[in-house]
Amino acid sequence: MSDDLLHHFFGGFVRLHVLYHADQEAICGIDMIEELRRHGYRLSPGTLYPILHQLEKNGYLACKENLLNGRRRKNYRITAKGRKLLGHARAKLKELFAEVVDDGAP
Ligand SMILES: [Zn+2]
Repeated sequence: MSDDLLHHFFGGFVRLHVLYHADQEAICGIDMIEELRRHGYRLSPGTLYPILHQLEKNGYLACKENLLNGRRRKNYRITAKGRKLLGHARAKLKELFAEVVDDGAP
């Protein structure tokens, strides 16, 4: 598989992870980088932050700035629009999983 295509797939997976975790709790960039690393994705802040900004700009995430130990920190939560998208993506993911991973098993 070409690296470009893999990169394309991972871009979608990373966005799904972000939406999922922002639905569970408030997330910040640095914690999300750690979480994604746990899943085997190595993202730099320069890659992840634009993704968070884009999701915010498109109304899927809402950002709140907090002070933590005197440093400003951006926390993101999923919005109603983001939750709707996640529900949609989850249904498609289940279908895809059943076919591609479970090999068409009903
Ligand atoms: Zn995760």
